[in-house]
Amino acid sequence: MTTSRMTDDERWAFAADRVYLKDIRITQIAGTSNRYVASSGSCPQRVYLVTGMRDCTCAAGIGGDKVCLHRAAVGLKLGLIDETPFPEVAA
Ligand SMILES: [Zn+2]
Repeated sequence: MTTSRMTDDERWAFAADRVYLKDIRITQIAGTSNRYVASSGSCPQRVYLVTGMRDCTCAAGIGGDKVCLHRAAVGLKLGLIDETPFPEVAA
């Protein structure tokens, strides 16, 4: 499935769905209000620094993509993304 034709809202919903599939865990950094460490879905030894839903140090974030799993995880935690499941193709 390509994500290029999806709207931003759809991309966030799609990413939020994958937060659970990939078991992305986020931990707030003490002393900050919006900085989190997010685990990598692909590399257990790696974590990313996420600032709100704005910045992430993963490849997508560095590359300028505004949507990634880590920021979606933060968005879910903060209640900024609906947890409604992304509509799956009927099995
Ligand atoms: Zn990211």
